[in-house]
Amino acid sequence: MKLARRVGSIQPSPTLAITSKAKAMKAQGIDVVGFGAGEPDFDTPDHIKTVAKKALDDGYTKYTPVPGTPELKDAIIAKLSRDNGLEYKRENIIVSVGAKHSIYNVGQALFEEGDEIVIPAPYWVSYPDIALLAGATPVIVDTKEEAGFKMTPEQLDRAITPRTKCVILNSPSNPTGAAYTGEELKRIAGVIVRRDVTVLSDEIYEKLVYDGFRFVSIASFGEEIRKRTIVVNGLSKAYSMTGWRIGYVAADKDLVAAMTNIQSQSTSNPVSFCDKAAIEALNGPHDFLKEWVAEFDRRRRTIVDRLNRIPGVSCLLPQGAFYVFPNFSRVYGKKTPSGKVIDGSSALAAYLLEEHKVASVPGVAFGDDACQRLSYATSMKTIEKGIDRIEQAIGMLS
Ligand SMILES: *Cc1c(COP(=O)(O)O)cnc(C)c1O
Repeated sequence: MKLARRVGSIQPSPTLAITSKAKAMKAQGIDVVGFGAGEPDFDTPDHIKTVAKKALDDGYTKYTPVPGTPELKDAIIAKLSRDNGLEYKRENIIVSVGAKHSIYNVGQALFEEGDEIVIPAPYWVSYPDIALLAGATPVIVDTKEEAGFKMTPEQLDRAITPRTKCVILNSPSNPTGAAYTGEELKRIAGVIVRRDVTVLSDEIYEKLVYDGFRFVSIASFGEEIRKRTIVVNGLSKAYSMTGWRIGYVAADKDLVAAMTNIQSQSTSNPVSFCDKAAIEALNGPHDFLKEWVAEFDRRRRTIVDRLNRIPGVSCLLPQGAFYVFPNFSRVYGKKTPSGKVIDGSSALAAYLLEEHKVASVPGVAFGDDACQRLSYATSMKTIEKGIDRIEQAIGMLS
């Protein structure tokens, strides 16, 4: 069958690919340590599950409004006001089947042939492909490890051309855990307003921040930046609800109306009983989060500390999310005991998985071949065991 040209431009999500390969090895009885996970290892809190079960029992199992129910929109509006100081109306909100779907719909409604989409690297794997699927051109801005993997306002200014439609920001970041301070975001916002482009702000990790970091939404620096901002958020990471598929956008009402049309011709409404659970998640108690963040924080310190003790490896302390992005480039060029040359992040990931049973995601998938992404959304015991293996694996290179 001759497939559409557009599928030739994209790749399957490499993070999902590595997770499924590690799972397959585990299923064969191989003791794999998985650092590939892109989701929290905690269970969805009980009070949220209870509401979903009740919704099912009450027969809340039919079609609902395409962009989400008014009650869920109101819970999102209340959240954005409470947490981010942002005021929106129902016409500014659309709920989709996960934040990835939200971003995809933004791409379909906003990007087109000839548009340039500025994406700082390291980036979340789906951004360039979502731009490509919409016919637009990703413009990658390489950030520096010395700059904490953050794009400077000057870098952004240089990347913008008359064709630039949108800048994609993700803070805290997957894969680096880097988070922009309010002051840094304000300067970036200044460039966005002055150059009159839009910004998609992926805020899915806003609740997972450490060392007293204060999360700020870029949309909160006044009306000029707010009207150019597409806020993306969802329930997957903060509530450990990856499988429920609830994400949302707050943005200009014309964009939201266009996205609603697209959604009405594709997925229709987000799953009815997940909609009810999402209301409970947003409006309900958040005390579990303190424990989760404290646990992630302990693991974060351990994994960074252990990685930095391995000769040839260096790792920044991330400020948010649940990933570290250590740099292994100083071991590139060395050989494995079986004679293979480690010539980049893919070769290293293959060596770690096949010969040492550790799953990580090669940095090249995120636009930085020097690094690997390791997720610490796994137990402390697993972290210790996995880093022991990496240490041994690196020590065997010559
Ligand atoms: C996990 C993730 C998402 C999307 O999550 P959904 O499960 O689709 O809601 C979006 N952006 C980033 C950076 C992520 O890591």
